[in-house]
Amino acid sequence: MGLYVHIPFCRKACHYCDFHFTVNLNGVKPLLQALSIEAQNQAPFWTQQTFDSIYFGGGTPGLLGPRQLEPLLNTLRSNFSIAAEAEITLETNPDDLLEFGAHAWKDLGINRLSLGVQSLNTQVLARLNRAHDAKQALQALDKIEAAGVQRVSVDLMFGLPGQSREDVLSAARELAQRNVHHISAYGLTVETGTQLELAVRKGKEQLPEEEESAEQFLSLHSVLSEAGFEHYEVSNYARAGQRSRHNSAYWSGEDYLGLGPSAHSLQADKRWFNRSSNGAYVQAMQQNTSIQDLEELSANQKVNEWLMTRMRTLEGAEAKEAIRRVGKTQWNIWQDLKSEFPASWFQTDKDLAFTAEGWLMMDSYLRKAIL
Ligand code: SF4
Repeated sequence: MGLYVHIPFCRKACHYCDFHFTVNLNGVKPLLQALSIEAQNQAPFWTQQTFDSIYFGGGTPGLLGPRQLEPLLNTLRSNFSIAAEAEITLETNPDDLLEFGAHAWKDLGINRLSLGVQSLNTQVLARLNRAHDAKQALQALDKIEAAGVQRVSVDLMFGLPGQSREDVLSAARELAQRNVHHISAYGLTVETGTQLELAVRKGKEQLPEEEESAEQFLSLHSVLSEAGFEHYEVSNYARAGQRSRHNSAYWSGEDYLGLGPSAHSLQADKRWFNRSSNGAYVQAMQQNTSIQDLEELSANQKVNEWLMTRMRTLEGAEAKEAIRRVGKTQWNIWQDLKSEFPASWFQTDKDLAFTAEGWLMMDSYLRKAIL
């Protein structure tokens, strides 16, 4: 099971991003102290569990620097049972990595770096307001390779303003020939309230057509597949044995603990999330009060959530288990979709699982079938 730590700070606000973060770095110190308090408060409730992954996400945890991260990691190690071979991932951006160097992270015991590259076209990156350019992204990968970090994951995006199919293809080819073990590939979503949404609404920014975006995904898919990456989740590719342990545990429905503002946790049937406010989070931890909102899912919601999670994975939903959970009526709708759109599904009786083409249409299938 996994331990997630949310570090809600970034150097720049990317125009498409709706995660919880701030670019005001003045609050880093109190927030780190608050995270330590939350870890100590949560520890008594997780004494029976051993965590086999820790994931520092954000925001940009890589901007903290090893000196700030080390005490936090020590607090986690002294309060929770962490497996000796635990996967410990740190999300970082190329500019942060160039500042601190990959050795520093490796020396702390971080054995997996997740690098936010997004594109290898500097003009495209600038339009997104990313803090790095293409050259820095490649330099960061060189540094990671030179440091011999055990496992490297890279985030890439497609369907971006100003991005061409050739951009996507050449980035995928470049990464495929490097020592990269895992690639997360996301299509751009224009989230409400972001700078990008405003710019699109005002006609100041144009997005590629949906068809073009789909073609970009399929091109990227074929380059990565030919290079030996397994498409094991709708947005994730891995070389053999390099799937993300942390995320795979989410998709298998395992319990997890999330620390920090906006972090979610699941323990048995109880799910809760910390409110998305750094100030309120720090205050709550200092005053020993709760900042958690409890989420109660109905039986039907739980079933649908199970199915949606399974359908994101290469293995999909196993037929017997799916019928048991969703019932015959919904199962028959899926079977009809399977017959109507054969290219979208792996044609096996045992499972319900999407092909790459099917994942492109996943949302519309879910809308049709989920009751
Ligand atoms: S660095 Fe990541 S978390 Fe921060 S604004 Fe950009 S996309 Fe969002």
